[in-house]
Amino acid sequence: MRSSDLLDLIVIGAGASGLFLSLLAARRGLSVTVLEHGPATGRKLRASGGGRCNLTNLAAGPEDYFSDNPHFCRSALARFTPAEALAAFAEFGLAFEEKAPGQMFCVQGARRLAEALEAACREAGARIVLNCPVRAVTGPAPFRVETGTGIFEAPRLAVACGGPSWPNLGASDLAFRLARQFGLDVVEPRPALVPLVLSGGQARLCRDLAGLSLADARVSCGGRSFLGGLLFTHRGLSGPAVLEASCLWRPGLEVAVDFLPGRDLEDLLRQGRGEFRGLTKTFLRRLLPDRLVAALAPPGAAERPLAQLSNAELAETARAFQNFTATPSDTEGLAKAEVTAGGVDTRDISSKTMECRKIPGLFFLGEALDVTGRLGGFNLQWAWSSAAAAAASL
Ligand SMILES: Cc1cc2nc3c(=O)[nH]c(=O)nc-3n(C[C@H](O)[C@H](O)[C@H](O)COP(=O)(O)OP(=O)(O)OC[C@H]3O[C@@H](n4cnc5c(N)ncnc54)[C@H](O)[C@@H]3O)c2cc1C
Repeated sequence: MRSSDLLDLIVIGAGASGLFLSLLAARRGLSVTVLEHGPATGRKLRASGGGRCNLTNLAAGPEDYFSDNPHFCRSALARFTPAEALAAFAEFGLAFEEKAPGQMFCVQGARRLAEALEAACREAGARIVLNCPVRAVTGPAPFRVETGTGIFEAPRLAVACGGPSWPNLGASDLAFRLARQFGLDVVEPRPALVPLVLSGGQARLCRDLAGLSLADARVSCGGRSFLGGLLFTHRGLSGPAVLEASCLWRPGLEVAVDFLPGRDLEDLLRQGRGEFRGLTKTFLRRLLPDRLVAALAPPGAAERPLAQLSNAELAETARAFQNFTATPSDTEGLAKAEVTAGGVDTRDISSKTMECRKIPGLFFLGEALDVTGRLGGFNLQWAWSSAAAAAASL
């Protein structure tokens, strides 16, 4: 089969950014075809936010993104803001709620949001071709895309097929292969927003504490700290603060955890030494979960009356809970990573239009680019903002 010769734009990937670009482009009167290798559109979108879709974050700004080129995302985020994203989805009759500060979820759920976006694309005239594996792409313009269901040609090609994380929802590394084919650099792709794996004695500690969660911990890695929940797993550490720290983790780097953020445990112990008559572990249990106290408190101090501890023992006890350090041996890998960090090097891409500087008509969007958001709606906001930037230039 040979597709229409009159296409204005081919989009590879019917996920968040690909559908949003197709909608905006089709509404501008462009003839758009979206090629999706999976059996359905927006599979990550449907699974997002645990089925509730955290579609944006009201506070989204460049500092919420990790990239080798940290200023790249600034222009697109400023030109298509979280408020604009909410307004665009409200048009489909969807409502939103703020479940945590700034984090906006879809009241009707992720599936309904994805269905509404797909329906709007079709209504605007975009053609979506499912079960359409891309076999080869040639260019520069006109771009020619050979697929399992036909050949498509257009003067513009948007690569919106995301990163390879969470492959059971259809993810692939096609975007990176295409980037390299067209001579672009790819910043080393790696799992991010992913649990960390510990080894040796610390792995045993995690196994013993598996299932224990703390509502607030501060996790530091690579010069930044993240505040949020922490969960011990059978293999290591997870929970929102750890997932965010994983975006900066590289093999060999240490992670430090403060299990009592915002308090000075050494100071509290010193005050307690003057007033409290019981054992140190009993005092600690007033501040921290019993299981954590049993696992981390220095045994010499824990089993003695707090009143008997020396200044050095107070400091050592405080350090055990406020500067717990570990050097993860690995992450849980792409299979369990909510996003892929790294990706198409943005130095070759216009920050205003997402178009490749060296190859006019070739665009990269969303997670395929070396722009990775924190947890909390930032990655989908990047998908919408990068798509809107490309659409505005068409
Ligand atoms: C379980 C889970 C939950 C998440 N929850 C949230 C959340 O609540 N909030 C948030 O901000 N972010 C969330 N994310 C991240 C967010 O979903 C992604 O960052 C975002 O979807 C990226 O958009 P994209 O358009 O770049 O790629 P995607 O949405 O991944 O779309 C890529 C599309 O391209 C298709 N494709 C891939 N390879 C090919 C190929 N070779 N040929 C043709 N088509 C191809 C895929 O099937 C897919 O449809 C979550 C991710 C996961 C995995």
